[in-house]
Amino acid sequence: MKFYSLNNPEHHVSFKEAVINGIAPDRGLYFPEQIQSLPAAFFEEIESLSDQEIAYSAMLQFVGDTIPPEKLREIVHQMLDFDFPLVTLEENIAVLELFHGPTMAFKDVGARFMAYCLGYFSEGNREEVTVLVATSGDTGGAVANGFLGVKGVQVVILYPSGKVSEIQEKQLTTLGQNITALEVTGTFDDCQQMVKKAFLDKEIRKHRKLTSANSINVARWLPQLFYFLFAFKKAKSIGKEIVFAVPSGNFGNICAGIVAQKLGMPARHFVAATNSNDVVPHFMRTRQYQPKVAKSTISNAMDVGDPSNFVRILNLFDNDFTMLSQNFSSYSFSDKATKATMKSIYNSYGYLMDPHGAVGYLGLKKYLENCPDCYGIFLETAHPVKFLPVVEETLGFVPDIPPQIQKVMTGKKSTIQIATYDDLKAYLSKN
Ligand SMILES: *Cc1c(COP(=O)(O)O)cnc(C)c1O
Repeated sequence: MKFYSLNNPEHHVSFKEAVINGIAPDRGLYFPEQIQSLPAAFFEEIESLSDQEIAYSAMLQFVGDTIPPEKLREIVHQMLDFDFPLVTLEENIAVLELFHGPTMAFKDVGARFMAYCLGYFSEGNREEVTVLVATSGDTGGAVANGFLGVKGVQVVILYPSGKVSEIQEKQLTTLGQNITALEVTGTFDDCQQMVKKAFLDKEIRKHRKLTSANSINVARWLPQLFYFLFAFKKAKSIGKEIVFAVPSGNFGNICAGIVAQKLGMPARHFVAATNSNDVVPHFMRTRQYQPKVAKSTISNAMDVGDPSNFVRILNLFDNDFTMLSQNFSSYSFSDKATKATMKSIYNSYGYLMDPHGAVGYLGLKKYLENCPDCYGIFLETAHPVKFLPVVEETLGFVPDIPPQIQKVMTGKKSTIQIATYDDLKAYLSKN
């Protein structure tokens, strides 16, 4: 299987090149040339397969011959060493918990898979690869944790000083080894600008191989399709049509779900739930795609004004709006509605949601109004303690801190402070 650039169908690369480049030289996103359905028997017998077997079969065609089958098996076994529980909340509604990984964010799976792939591709290479990434919170921790100790890979994470939560800061500044945290005097946008500039800087690229670790990278994007297959395996015996609702920011996660459908997974519909950053809901109403400056909300991992993976979703439906709208809807919700939902779900069921999960629940409820007999699954993308201040303010108490978070809180923060692009360049040039 090859990948091509969405800006130029003539530009083809292998999975390995797509992972190492991150984005095509023409700035296009990489996209699979074709997606072959898995055999019908795979879905008929999915209950008898382990999560690792499911992941291996689903990933095989994308990886092609760039990773030997035994190695791919080893990778999925190592990365999937935690659970993905499907918890029933109401009749016909369940929550798929994606926060049982090492940093309690759903990004753990993609970050780990990418780290293992890049580690494998760097074996025997004399030249190190540097993963350069800007984070507004959760990405940094998941990437730091996934890449910790991977040989041949240096990780440099930029984050805005004072603008990430205490837990998030600890997760990305206390690990050491091949992980360096650059604490930037500025905003997340400043961090992102600096990273973009570094990627285009020939002087830096002359002596450093740089790649990115956001959901644009196919090795971070595609493994997210596992979640949908794992949930299908658990919900299949209910015998109803399944609807997935995904709290969406850059739309990588939901786009991977649609890839699972392309692989042959029966799913009736996908709902992308957003906060007030409503570029996609607006597009679905008007067919006008109008990027905006991102607004700050309480579900801040979804504060995105120009979702990078939406173009991949359009391509999965051959840019046909009718096909798209038969399979995909998108709704936007305010912070006020999100908080009210966190409260009412806690009061009714004793279930603690983070603000992102609550947005997903709202999206699902809205779609199910028209399909009361569907079975709805919404994705809970982070543990509530990752967004402690909002959860505490909304529910009026501090939830228990799980052991993997407690452990990181005792670590010692170590960062390098930078303020300008020249500081970043100096760091990348001398280390
Ligand atoms: C990144 C993130 C999202 C958004 O995921 P996309 O794939 O960018 O749509 C949602 N919730 C949480 C907690 C996240 O960290």
